[in-house]
Amino acid sequence: MKIAIAGSGALGCGFGHLLKKNGQEVTLLDNWDDHIEAIRLNGLKVTVNGTEETQRMAIYKPHEVKEEMDVIFVFTKAMGLKSMMESIAHIIGDQTKVICLLNGLGHLRTLEAYVDKKNIIMGTTVWTAGIDAPGVTHLNGQGPVELQNSDPEETAAALKIVEILKNSGLNGVYSSNVNYTTWRKACVNGTMNALCALLDTTIEKVFASSTIDSMLTGIVSEFATLAEVQDNIKLDVEETITYLKNLADKVGAHYPSMHQDLANMRPTEIDFLNGAVAEASKRFGLQAPYCQKVTDLIHAKEEILGIESPIK
Ligand code: NAD
Repeated sequence: MKIAIAGSGALGCGFGHLLKKNGQEVTLLDNWDDHIEAIRLNGLKVTVNGTEETQRMAIYKPHEVKEEMDVIFVFTKAMGLKSMMESIAHIIGDQTKVICLLNGLGHLRTLEAYVDKKNIIMGTTVWTAGIDAPGVTHLNGQGPVELQNSDPEETAAALKIVEILKNSGLNGVYSSNVNYTTWRKACVNGTMNALCALLDTTIEKVFASSTIDSMLTGIVSEFATLAEVQDNIKLDVEETITYLKNLADKVGAHYPSMHQDLANMRPTEIDFLNGAVAEASKRFGLQAPYCQKVTDLIHAKEEILGIESPIK
């Protein structure tokens, strides 16, 4: 199967590596010159759960690839999705399945401008990944990758992708309600990521603070209200907070990715998390002051650090 990885950074390299290792015809797509050069010269090095593996991989800039793909995994940051879709429109055919595992909200609407809904498969993943140097990445965890077809008629196509992910060691799982999983993951990112980035500390320190309950209730309630009004998804606030606290117990020493984005002078995905909730809530006449404030503070922090927002 011809698979393109559109955005071959941290997660994209990890997925591309395991898919190719397990027999798929994988092409990495990215526009980062040093990364492309390093992979062409030395192969792609991915350390998977502590074991370093090197593999020759095809890597190109999107405009250099001419043939239509069977499957495309999009793996940009949320704010890069639109421009990536523009640069890969020519390799999306009538039958090309596009799989989106990005964090954040609203990606289905972005994808629908470029891909027929019958070919869009949405999902989430809890694999974690990072870039150590150009051409050198790591992938940690066991997954899963949960996904579901956006068109109810297309379950067979999603099941086929689940099978490929399973066979590649990526722990694919078919989800009967990926929209719920996406909202719940957004709650994780909209609380842990945003608060650790703002307070410049680890998850365990944020969750040990005396104001954690009111912060979690404020943010999660706004996500839950919008999830129900906009998408008919019922997120129980108390249950979600318990889930977040249990997760914090397991990964407490960790600095989440938004903290790492600021530390590495990269823009955050806040506009697709708390920012998306604040914006959409306005459209529905709802109040989301917590999410608005968190978004404003993260943007202020980006500005203070001199990080330019790509979508302003
Ligand atoms: P990343 O920044 O490491 O990789 C994105 C890559 O896309 C970069 O190499 C960039 O050069 C490339 N890119 C962006 N726009 C492009 C364009 N128009 N043309 C060509 N290349 C382009 O990001 P990541 O950490 O792999 O995360 C991808 C998504 O997955 C994000 O939404 C993130 O929140 C989510 N996610 C990440 C992790 C993780 O541990 N890294 C875990 C779960 C979910």
